Amino acid sequence: MNTLVRDIVPESWPQLLASRGEPPYRGRQLAHWLFARGALDWDAMHNLPRSLRAGLAADFDPAGLSIEERLVAADGTRKFLFRLRDGHTIESVIIPMEHHATFCISSQVGCAMACRFCATARGGLARGLSPGEIVEQVQRLAADLTSAPFPQHGDRGYNVVFMGMGEPLDNFDAVRTGLAIMTSPLGLGLSTRRVQLSTSAPPQGLANLDSLDLPVGLTISIGGADDAARRKVMPVSGRAGVADALAAAERFARRSGRRVTIAWVLIAERTDQLEQARTLARLVANRPFKVNLIPLNELDDDDLAAAASERILAFQRVLVDAGVPAYIRVSGGRDIGAACGQLRRRRASSR
Ligand code: SAH
Repeated sequence: MNTLVRDIVPESWPQLLASRGEPPYRGRQLAHWLFARGALDWDAMHNLPRSLRAGLAADFDPAGLSIEERLVAADGTRKFLFRLRDGHTIESVIIPMEHHATFCISSQVGCAMACRFCATARGGLARGLSPGEIVEQVQRLAADLTSAPFPQHGDRGYNVVFMGMGEPLDNFDAVRTGLAIMTSPLGLGLSTRRVQLSTSAPPQGLANLDSLDLPVGLTISIGGADDAARRKVMPVSGRAGVADALAAAERFARRSGRRVTIAWVLIAERTDQLEQARTLARLVANRPFKVNLIPLNELDDDDLAAAASERILAFQRVLVDAGVPAYIRVSGGRDIGAACGQLRRRRASSR
């Protein structure tokens, strides 16, 4: 299969085209078409000579995604099922926030982390996405937002969160290149403040986190305050435990100068005990962290249930009383299966 044209960082194109006997400024023109203009076919790039476009078309594909399905929820959340060139499908979501849109994107086809509560985990991992497949999701969503803006938003600004399918630290080289393209002024030109990586902190991914030098936002999904409790819902933790994950998160917070978010999915009888809240509070207090409490989005093939609202409030109260900033997050798009991997799963089982 050809390389995806967006797998390559914009800074490399002048040199790359020079090596094909073209003047380097053609590389800047091409990068402008790809990233500033979002061109998805060679025909659009009319100021590039036909011969150059034909030459590139022999080696590179101009697009890696096609829209298989687009669903709009009652609350405005838009969910996309994209088909990749090899037939796999991935999900991406546009979530309307008060002042901007949030794009939730995938980093892998499936996931190897096997979290008990996650729909994506059920099918296992097929493969990692390439940098171009990661970046193109953002551009497809941005194009959708431009053609159909949310009426309450003055501008078309968006944030990007890696909270779709997959574990970003398990596909780190591609994710890092994707981040570089998103945040480069020659790429999508997004401020690092607008990008959020979310990770289940697999032990083998913590060294990757230590090597990440872009000050993007970071969320660590914990789901268990001690190693035994965490392993029950997130087997990924393996031998490296909660303490290692939080230590890596703290190093990242100090490097980036940004508070790290601890994501805690609240599952009835599994992760909503006040004893766990107290342990979590001790781990998190007086460190550069805040906690997001996420009531479980229930899967239809599973007996796990969301924690009751009074339990959620009590859990939050323990954290707040210990001086830990803690917020309850409500997920959008429930009626269209917007939680991580649900749409793809529903489609697979209806075939
Ligand atoms: N692998 C990464 C990113 C994908 S999951 C990570 O673990 O962070 C993104 C977020 O969705 C995580 O915080 C995860 O805990 C949460 N999540 C997954 N399934 C969920 C469900 N059924 N209900 C509520 N939150 C869920």
